[in-house]
This record gives sequence, C-alpha cells and structure tokens, in this order.
Amino acid sequence: MRIVLLGPPGAGKGTQAANIVDEYNIPHISTGDIFRKNLKENTKLGLKAKEYMDKGLLVPDELVVDLVKDRLLQDDCKQGFMLDGFPRTVFQAEALDAELKKMNIKLDVVLNVDVKQELLMSRLTGRHVCKGCGATYHISNNPPANAGICDSCGGELYQRADDTEETVSKRLQVYNDQTQPLIDYYHKANLLKNIDGEKEIGQVFEDIKEILAGVK
Ligand code: ADP
Ligand code: ADP
Ligand code: ZN
Repeated sequence: MRIVLLGPPGAGKGTQAANIVDEYNIPHISTGDIFRKNLKENTKLGLKAKEYMDKGLLVPDELVVDLVKDRLLQDDCKQGFMLDGFPRTVFQAEALDAELKKMNIKLDVVLNVDVKQELLMSRLTGRHVCKGCGATYHISNNPPANAGICDSCGGELYQRADDTEETVSKRLQVYNDQTQPLIDYYHKANLLKNIDGEKEIGQVFEDIKEILAGVK
C-alpha cells in the first residue's frame, strides 16, 4: 500500500500514521520527523531546516525533494510506504509523481484528514510529544496515563518549539496558501479520499481502515 496523508497542521496525521503503520507494516515517512532528527544530531540539513521551521515556513522544496527520493529507494519501501507531511507544495507533488513514474509504481490513495481551522490552534498548542519514541499526546484530548510521561516507552514529553500560538498561525496560513491546492491536485488524479478528522481518534482510524480496505 502506498499512501499519502494530507491535511493541515494538527489534523491528526501523525497520530493516525502511527496506527496505520502498525496495522499495515509499512514505513512511516514524515519529513517533519526527518528534519527534527537532523536538528537533534546537528547536521547541516537540520540547522538549515530550523531557520524555516522556527518561523512556521516551509523548508525550500529542493531540500525536501531529494531527501524523500532517497528514502523511497530504500529497501523497506518495496512493500509500500506512508508519506506524512509530504508533499506540501504542488512542486513537491509533481516531483513525487515524476519519481514514482521512474520507479514504475503509483500511489494507491491520498487520505485527506479534514479538520476545521478553529480546532487546529488548540490541538497544536496542547500537543505533547515523546522525546524517546515520538508518540503524540494532547493535554486534554489524548493525555498520557501519567502526566508528562509516555505510555509506550516511559520517555519524557515535550512541546515542539513551533507549537506556539504565533508560529501555528503562520503555519496555518502557509498551509492554506501552499498545501491546500494539493486537495484539488489529487482529486483530479482520482486518488483523494476525505476523512472526517474531527471525530474521536479511534473512530478516525476505523474510518481510515474502511477506506484502505476498499483500496486494495
Ligand atoms: P499532525 O501530524 O496532523 O500535525 P497530530 O497527529 O500531531 O497532527 O495531532 C495534533 C494534536 O491533536 C495532538 O496533540 C493529538 O493528540 C491531537 N489529536 C489528533 N487527532 C485527534 C482527534 N481526532 N481528536 C482530538 N485530538 C486529536
Ligand atoms: P505538522 O505536525 O504541523 O504537520 P510537520 O512535523 O509535518 O508539522 O512539519 C514541521 C515543519 O517542518 C513544517 O512547518 C516545515 O517547516 C517543515 N516541513 C516538514 N515537511 C515539509 C515539506 N514536505 N516541505 C517543506 N517543509 C516541510
Ligand atoms: Zn515514548
């Protein structure tokens, strides 16, 4: 199964991605996670990406596209993959199409996780992420059993530097300008499936499973 997860920041892509990869045994490719890992390791790419991430802006296409191309060529992607947070611009979507064509493969489905703008701010400013395993929680919507501690690995939870009100506003604006056009792009390609991301987390996953069962 080759899946793209689309949706605004805070829609629940990462949360559902964790469920999907568990169930379908495919690698979870999150460009945001790749940048944050690079930053943690102080690589050149990480430091460059940070300049944009801190401002809520997209990292330039040329820094993202090659990285994803390389990732898709790795062995574990042979059974399929799930892209989360990529593509984010029409340029990236076209580059992905070109690369998949070269590899002689196609996307199976694009899941568009739909959540109205008003809900996104509180989702993101209340998001807590595990330092150890990357699991995502929410201070009130999806709290861990013990405050500040990850249920699955016992790691410490933290708030992302870009989950502040000011940066989230910018990210939402950037989404509307640069990423939302992809909904139309994939609709025209006959790949788009809309998911109501305002339902409760477990129910959203049920809806996703139903759609994926019909895809392949
Ligand atoms: P994205 O990867 O799309 O930015 P996340 O999966 O990180 O989104 O979710 C953003 C925040 O919203 C997290 O704190 C998460 O726990 C919470 N969340 C995710 N899905 C739901 C949902 N269906 N209902 C309520 N809160 C949710
Ligand atoms: P969210 O959980 O809000 O969807 P991500 O973790 O996907 O956030 O992305 C965090 C930041 O990383 C983005 O605001 C952007 O600066 C950068 N980034 C991630 N993926 C991409 C991409 N495909 N193109 C450009 N920038 C990206
Ligand atoms: Zn953890």
